[in-house]
Amino acid sequence: MYDIKSPKAEEFINHAEVMESLAYADKYKSDVGMIDSILEKARERKGLTHREGSVLLACDIPEKNEEIFALAHQIKLDLYGNRIVLFAPLYLSNYCINGCVYCPYHVSNKHIGRKQLSQEEIKREVIALQDMGHKRLALETGEDPVRCPLSYVLDSIKTIYSIKHKNGAIRRVNVNIAATTVEEYQQLKAAGIGTYILFQETYHRESYEKLHPYGPKHNYKWHTEAMDRAMQGGIDDVGMGVLFGLELYRYEYAGLLMHAEHLEATMGVGPHTISVPRIRRADDVDPDVFDNGISDEIFAKIIACIRIAVPYTGMILSTREYVKTREKVLPLGISQVSGASRTSVGGYTSKDRPSDTTQFDVSDKRTLDEVIKWLIDLGYVPSFCTACYRAGRTGDRFMSLCKSGDIQNCCHPNAMITLKEFLVDYASEETKKVGNALLQKELLNIPQERIRSMTKQYLADIEKGQRDFRF
Ligand code: SF4
Ligand code: SF4
Repeated sequence: MYDIKSPKAEEFINHAEVMESLAYADKYKSDVGMIDSILEKARERKGLTHREGSVLLACDIPEKNEEIFALAHQIKLDLYGNRIVLFAPLYLSNYCINGCVYCPYHVSNKHIGRKQLSQEEIKREVIALQDMGHKRLALETGEDPVRCPLSYVLDSIKTIYSIKHKNGAIRRVNVNIAATTVEEYQQLKAAGIGTYILFQETYHRESYEKLHPYGPKHNYKWHTEAMDRAMQGGIDDVGMGVLFGLELYRYEYAGLLMHAEHLEATMGVGPHTISVPRIRRADDVDPDVFDNGISDEIFAKIIACIRIAVPYTGMILSTREYVKTREKVLPLGISQVSGASRTSVGGYTSKDRPSDTTQFDVSDKRTLDEVIKWLIDLGYVPSFCTACYRAGRTGDRFMSLCKSGDIQNCCHPNAMITLKEFLVDYASEETKKVGNALLQKELLNIPQERIRSMTKQYLADIEKGQRDFRF
């Protein structure tokens, strides 16, 4: 039976409840009165239930769909402004004992190169990332308790935070590792991680078990209840996601919202971020064999409907997507993108993009400088901000700032300050030119006089060589 507060996966992601929600959505998808009343509620920016969100996602009235897109865009502008936060994944190890059929790192793939970075190699990778201008990383590893135990991940985090190279620094390390115990989550928290990220892949239990035929990840319950354990271990920023294309997208959407509702109901705070990866071609993986692939139109609608249903949850888009798709969905609710990603182990220190240990094909292959210029040209303020976690603004403290709208007083000037650091330290002449012009314009958009003059001063101080200011 469905129970939002139950600790059991099968009760908070209850299959019967998902199916009833989808039937409910089908019943009302063409009902103007119902759609209008849901949109009315969504305009209060307090979010929607999984049933209400599912109705919007299923809605087949073209004018109402336009309203859905417009509302998602407006919510994004009101809550996130025009800043987009940048990050890069760092693959530490691709040894894995699981059998995920959509991932080339699955243990039975005998021809892919296997690699695990030593602490010296991690240093070199991090220096390469710092030399691009990155400040925020997402660590990625396969699951292999013998080769890649938690102690290795903890050592790696220590190494990464300790590297000071020129003006570079990694100021936030997010971690994407396999579901683990409360004790290990406590250790990750103590190591100073930002967000703990774990993708559900699919909420559909039967499909999940088929897609993960063996290995510890086969255990749906252990995997689905991981965020509860992470939060019990003291990690209050967790990042969720599904791999769109594995199952029916409407099922996944309802599952994502139910999971978010469950965390909010039991832990008092929902997910910090939701990622929206789509399945990509890779060694030993042909996306065409998965028959639940979604079009760009549906992808955009999913993003808009997530933005409306969980307005205070950041949304992450990776370099899996082509530039054109990225441009189309950015205004609908994306708040973070990866830039210049290499999805192979040791990829950042290779001159060319290595393909032997790659997890998936990257569609957006531009340099970070090109990505920054592209964002500026589109009217966004690229941001390398990591202020909240460093100022202790996490979990419910962060959410209450978000909900009051006060976070904007931090995000916007912090985006400007960190962009300035990038422009001074790493940008090409062309990017510097458009970036500095943007900063002058954005100064005028800071409403509070005190914050405006502080930001102006910080920008001048950065030009003179000082670093790491924040609001
Ligand atoms: Fe291993 Fe993760 Fe790939 Fe599954 S998705 S095979 S757990 S690296
Ligand atoms: Fe993110 Fe906080 Fe920085 Fe805003 S101020 S961009 S919420 S870290």
